[in-house]
Amino acid sequence: MSKVSIDWSKLGFDYMKTDFSYVSYWENGSWDKGQLVTDDRISISQASTAIHYGQQCFEGLKAYRTKDGSIQLFRVDENAKRMANSAARILMPEVPEEKFIDAVMQVVKANEDYVPPYGTGATLYLRPYLIGIGNNIGVKPAPKYLFGVFCLPVGPYFKGGLSPVNFEVSKYDRAAPYGTGAAKVGGNYAASLLSHQEAAQRGFADAIYLDPLTHTKIEEVGAANFFGITKDDVFVTPTSPSILPSITKFSLIHLAQNHLGMKVSEEDVLIDELDRFKEAGACGTAAVITPIGGISYKGNLHVFHSETEVGPVTRKLYETLTGMQFGEIEAPEGWIFKVK
Ligand SMILES: *Cc1c(COP(=O)(O)O)cnc(C)c1O
Repeated sequence: MSKVSIDWSKLGFDYMKTDFSYVSYWENGSWDKGQLVTDDRISISQASTAIHYGQQCFEGLKAYRTKDGSIQLFRVDENAKRMANSAARILMPEVPEEKFIDAVMQVVKANEDYVPPYGTGATLYLRPYLIGIGNNIGVKPAPKYLFGVFCLPVGPYFKGGLSPVNFEVSKYDRAAPYGTGAAKVGGNYAASLLSHQEAAQRGFADAIYLDPLTHTKIEEVGAANFFGITKDDVFVTPTSPSILPSITKFSLIHLAQNHLGMKVSEEDVLIDELDRFKEAGACGTAAVITPIGGISYKGNLHVFHSETEVGPVTRKLYETLTGMQFGEIEAPEGWIFKVK
């Protein structure tokens, strides 16, 4: 029995202090051992690079409770690798993969009571982050770094089951062509707040970003990757140096190929050629898949499958991937990490 009293059915995506977080510090070329702490506040210099110059990155992943009561993580090694890439892009020291996975495991185990029960659709969301700290007012890499991991229980993204939403093409860019778009850094998120707000004010779920160079190709859907299913059943997803490589997307590519027997193509998705697709979606850890009802561009709403019904391929992909994450369907080797 869980020792915490939480109404799992009411969970959204809101901060909640859990019992333990992890912190580890880097200085003079090496990481300390790292430890679990009970305080959910950190104390850093006001001159930290994370505050002034955006020298920080983060990850997002979930721990899932399976039917037999055990807890598992999904492809956490990929989150570790991606954080190392993000860190390298903005001159931060990498957190070794084993250290990253160990920290996440420690946080899940220490907060086991907060992992929602199987069947609720709720999960334990994990937020690893890496920030430049220490006295550093000049524009240069920080002298010290903090790697932290905290967690909080979150509800399923779609409470009433999977349902499509509409998006609007933004007039703003989230990242420059060879900028930091492929790194999971906070600056990209700061750049997306206004476009999200404007899209929301007009009744859309979020903004769609076109490629920053020509503004003709779809890149990101809010903070998720785009995919489309063509009329002849090809799973299409765009590639670009300013797209954040989504682990959910790579997993869906594998499932489309190996479980649904579909062809997969990574190619440009022209905003003027949406007619090719019978279904479309956005993918990322938070919602797994958000079915795209329609996309508004230059005042016209292009509807894919339906504004109210989820297409069959999208649904099958969603059910297969979430089935693996909750341990109902056997996942490819190496995707599941049991928390012992
Ligand atoms: C995190 C993120 C995604 C989704 O990545 P997942 O690994 O699937 O969670 C997509 N786009 C952006 C901009 C992101 O920051």
